[in-house]
Amino acid sequence: MWWADTAHHTSDPRDRWCGLTRNGVERMITLAAIDRSPILFVITGPSGSGKGTVIAHLLDTFPGLQRIVTYTTREPREGEIDGIHYRFISQEKFDDLRDSGDIFEYERVYDDYYYASPARVLEGGADRIIELDYKGHRKYRAHYPNVVSIFLLPPSMEALAERIQLRSPENNMESRLANAREQIDRAAEYDYLLVNDCLEDALCRAEAVVEAERMRREKPTLLDLWNIPLPDSTPESDA
Ligand code: ADP
Repeated sequence: MWWADTAHHTSDPRDRWCGLTRNGVERMITLAAIDRSPILFVITGPSGSGKGTVIAHLLDTFPGLQRIVTYTTREPREGEIDGIHYRFISQEKFDDLRDSGDIFEYERVYDDYYYASPARVLEGGADRIIELDYKGHRKYRAHYPNVVSIFLLPPSMEALAERIQLRSPENNMESRLANAREQIDRAAEYDYLLVNDCLEDALCRAEAVVEAERMRREKPTLLDLWNIPLPDSTPESDA
C-alpha cells in the first residue's frame, strides 16, 4: 500500500507511526490538506536567532512543506544561495516588482536594504513557511486567516551577539542588537515562543508545533456557521 511502504526496517522510531511510514504520514497529511485551508507558518526572530537553521530542518522533516523565498536587495553572505535563502535582486528589479503588484509587503532595514515578500503566497494546497519580521507578521496575520506564528528567542543577548559575530563579522552589530530588541518586544504577539538554547531541543519543539497544527481540526468560520440549517423550532407534539 502506498502509505505503508519503505521504512519498516529502520531503527529510527520517528520513521514509523503505528505502521505508517513517515513518508506515508506526510502523504496523508498532504491529502488531508485538500480538505482544509493551507497553513502559513511564519517564523520571526532577531538576526542570528536560528530562523534559517529551524526552517531548513522543518523543510527536511516535512517534505510537503514549501518555503516562500523572500526578496532582498542586499548582497548574499557567504554560503547563501539565490532562490534558497533569498532571491537576491537589484534595486531596479525591486522597484519593478513593487510597481507591478508582485510584492505583498516590504521593509527597509538598517537604512540600507529592502526585504520584501511576494504576493499570492497561498496559491495551491501546500502548507508554506516564511521568515518575516514582526511588521510582516502583522500584515500577513491581518490578511490570511490560517497563519501560525513562531517567535524564536535567543537564550540571551550575549549568546545572540556571539552567534551573529561568528556567522558574519559585520560592522553593524549595534544596529543588529537594537533591531533584535525591537523584534523581541513584539514576541507576545506570536502563537508560539521557542527559545533556541540547545539546538536539538529547539528543532524538536519546532517539529512538534508543525505536527500539532497540521492535525488541528479546522475551526468553522462565521460563514460556515451561517450555512448550518437552524433546528426546526416547531415543538414536537407529545402524541
Ligand atoms: P538567522 O536565520 O535567524 O539569522 P541562523 O539560522 O543563520 O539565524 O543562525 C545563526 C548562527 O547561529 C548560525 O551560525 C547557526 O549555525 C548558529 N546557531 C543556530 N542555533 C544555534 C544554537 N541553538 N546554538 C548554537 N548556535 C546556533
